[in-house]
Amino acid sequence: MSLARTPALVSYRLRRAFAGLWLGLLPLGAPAQVPSRPAFDVVPLGVRGGLDESNLSAYLVAPAGSTAYVCLDAGSLRTGLDKAVADKVFAVDAGVVLKTYIKAYLISHAHLDHVAGLLLNAPDDNAKTIYGLPSCLATLQNDYFNWRAWPNFGNAGAPPALGKYRLQPLTPGPEVALLETTLRVRTFPLSHARPYESAAFLLRSQNSYLLYVGDTGADELEQSHQLQALWQAVGPLVRAGQLKALFIETSYANEQPEKLLFGHLTPARLMQELAALGQAAGPGALRAVPIVITHRKPPASNEATIAQQLAVANALGMRMLYPVQGQRLQF
Ligand SMILES: [Zn+2]
Repeated sequence: MSLARTPALVSYRLRRAFAGLWLGLLPLGAPAQVPSRPAFDVVPLGVRGGLDESNLSAYLVAPAGSTAYVCLDAGSLRTGLDKAVADKVFAVDAGVVLKTYIKAYLISHAHLDHVAGLLLNAPDDNAKTIYGLPSCLATLQNDYFNWRAWPNFGNAGAPPALGKYRLQPLTPGPEVALLETTLRVRTFPLSHARPYESAAFLLRSQNSYLLYVGDTGADELEQSHQLQALWQAVGPLVRAGQLKALFIETSYANEQPEKLLFGHLTPARLMQELAALGQAAGPGALRAVPIVITHRKPPASNEATIAQQLAVANALGMRMLYPVQGQRLQF
């Protein structure tokens, strides 16, 4: 435990103590749990897994009540921001959210459907940090920010480097603070069609966590143990009630042949992985964690089939959520 965490822990304990006092005052028969206040605000800016270039993976996350957001992946920004502004999620216009509310980007991998919005909006953006695994940042710098694919908005590579974005590597290991926010992140590598690498980000705000899993195949098909390692790390947080939401992909319906999954999950494979997480967390613990299904690939019929297959296979009784572009979620 770091020193920086101690004050948060103390205030948490104080709040727990007060919650206990309140419980003592409640009449008999009152519910034994104090409803916890939300820890995170999330605004999905894009939710689909391809084809529809106006609605590709991008999720704003901030501590509840804060406007200091990080953007997890950045497939579509502008359409999502416009929709959120139209829905009165923000009291300022889309440009202000882009420039000043988004403090940093965390990119799970550099596939175009996860970075197109960032690239296209870069000319209008303010200077900030892009976080990602070294392999992801190398692709951004060398293959996009190179004056051939796009101007070099990065801080290295083909001269002149405009330096709008500081590309800051995240390496698996201890959590690190995200600049300009009060959030911290721990990064886990994933296998997204071996040997291509993707990432999961475990965000922390005070004593609460939100896990965002980038594109990934199932361990068994990827011949990998990376999801298993992630579940081992996150299981205790699920058990302790500290994981407030899990964002994870389901790209294809079960009918998709395994050799055509390209490092993605189906409902059956997601359930297999969630069962592994459930094992690490302990009996019943996963039922308290909203599972936010991301990256369903169009057409709409495929997206509907995925939701249907997940509902049928949900023997654990988990809460599945389907995010909508521009509509705020709280966890
Ligand atoms: Zn991908």
